[in-house]
Amino acid sequence: MLDIFDRLPDGLLDLESDQLWQTLKRPTLIHLEGDRQPALFVSILLHGNETTSWLAMRELLRKYQSQKLPRSLSLFIGNISAARYRQRHLADQPDYNRIWRMDDESEPLPEQIMAQKIIMEMRSRGVFASIDIHNNTGRNPHYGCITRLDKHSRHLARLFDKTVVYYTSPKTVQSYAFSSFCPAIVLECGQPDMADGTAHALEYVETCLNLDCFDNLPDDAIADIDLFHTVAIVKIPKEINFSFTGDPDDDITFPAEMDRLNFCELPIGANFGKAKTEKAYLSALSEEGKEKGDRYFQIQDGEIILKSPVMPSMLTLDTDIIRQDCLCYLMERLTIEQKS
Ligand SMILES: [Zn+2]
Repeated sequence: MLDIFDRLPDGLLDLESDQLWQTLKRPTLIHLEGDRQPALFVSILLHGNETTSWLAMRELLRKYQSQKLPRSLSLFIGNISAARYRQRHLADQPDYNRIWRMDDESEPLPEQIMAQKIIMEMRSRGVFASIDIHNNTGRNPHYGCITRLDKHSRHLARLFDKTVVYYTSPKTVQSYAFSSFCPAIVLECGQPDMADGTAHALEYVETCLNLDCFDNLPDDAIADIDLFHTVAIVKIPKEINFSFTGDPDDDITFPAEMDRLNFCELPIGANFGKAKTEKAYLSALSEEGKEKGDRYFQIQDGEIILKSPVMPSMLTLDTDIIRQDCLCYLMERLTIEQKS
């Protein structure tokens, strides 16, 4: 279920993300020759509704239509059939950013086999760095996420933004798989279709294409990083009803503009919503998958309050996304020794 090309199909750069299916019949990897080797790997549309990745790469490739790229580029265009309907993934598909590691217990999905094929192909060709471009649904600043803390990874992240998130779970994401053989980053570029997100991603990919190597970059450049690490993913248990509007069926009513709390460092006692009953708990899973809800939240006089100072990210008001994915992530500030 993968096509591999060594040139851009004719007319591709005229298409919107929801039209790519007309030219690309399945997920597609395109190797484009540039001046420097090895290639920069960029993956886009792993989530079909996250259009910034295509808008940025389309603009970049238009710019280089009549000139050679400063470095070779391998572009993976992921969930084209979900992009057609502007969905994260279709009902009968797995999430394309959860397929990059085989699990030993079950028969592999065709999408997992495809992901392994891409990993093997890129690993054998060599990769300068890997960039996976995403959007999110709530109000979030732009930031990069890395799964390793070595200097090259931190440089890769700082070139995008001062705010950097370190995470090690889930291990089924593209950037985790690639980080075992090259510096890898996930770009979170705010909400889809916004001009500033497109411009930022485009400028960043172009900067990376023009980089000679990571070793020449000065240590000072990464000294001012605001580094956070994910400590938990917050999910709402299936049996709990919730809204942001105070629906009569609610077990939990969250604040109406809760996504304003993204990337705010919140103190103990900060309010996370109203709970109608004592059973209205929030699940907080650690990176190891352990339930830590009690460590972060408690219900006091009908309010859900924080028991520990944390910073939420990816809070969204989109109830479908919350059910499909999560309410938010909780993060803590991380300081690292300046060592390689
Ligand atoms: Zn995404």
